[in-house]
Amino acid sequence: MNKKLFISIAFLAGGFSLASAQQKMKHEDTELYTPVPPVVTPGKSCGDAPSDAIILFDGKNLDSWVSANDTTKPADWIIKKGLLTVNKKAGSIQTKQLFMDYQIHVEWKEPKDIEGSDQGRGNSGLFLASTGKGDDGYEMQILDNYNNKTYTNGQAGSIYKQNAPLVNPNRPPGEWQSYDVIWTAPRFNDDGSLKSPARVTAFFNGVLVQNNFELTGPTLYVGHPSYEGKGAVRGPYAIKIQAHGDKSKPISFRNIWVRPLN
Ligand code: MG
Repeated sequence: MNKKLFISIAFLAGGFSLASAQQKMKHEDTELYTPVPPVVTPGKSCGDAPSDAIILFDGKNLDSWVSANDTTKPADWIIKKGLLTVNKKAGSIQTKQLFMDYQIHVEWKEPKDIEGSDQGRGNSGLFLASTGKGDDGYEMQILDNYNNKTYTNGQAGSIYKQNAPLVNPNRPPGEWQSYDVIWTAPRFNDDGSLKSPARVTAFFNGVLVQNNFELTGPTLYVGHPSYEGKGAVRGPYAIKIQAHGDKSKPISFRNIWVRPLN
């Protein structure tokens, strides 16, 4: 066998064994339980939009949003008394406008009488960049973790299945909570290879939970994320909010604004 052919076969075999190793993985394989982020009690205030912000939701309508399953369809979530509540049947929603780097503010509230446990207790998510239909993208987890144990890299304030929050500043269900996130989108070379990974800094109820964390690819429920294959989606990107299929009562949002940084 000539050397070039041998190298190509070896390369292909390597690719297949990596793919089959991913297929054999279970979702538990990427769920961590220690160390548990310490509980911190946050201060009281939330953030109003500054003058240069793009308002994504101000309590009145969903004109800035569409369905994430079908972007030709409107975002069919429920608006009542200025609050936006997830409609699980309608699926996730995403912004009409696309973004690269930005600062975002989102406020969310778990129902006071929330039930369920682990990942099935008020699960939603802020997808910082969409990479496809439905829930494909880079997820910052939203979940009730005031008194609810789950894997640390899947709790509220985590970059789902990639990085646990530094601390746990959850407020009790029924109280408003805020995310303030600084997102740097990944960049790709002309040949599709990664130029620079996505990075995130995030404050949860005003407390730092992600400190310039470098993501290894879009969120995956099973297996290790990567910027190759399906992960090599170029921006600009929509921002999404998750309608999770758990059985608990749906969560609500208010006061969502964004400031593009480029
Ligand atoms: Mg989620």
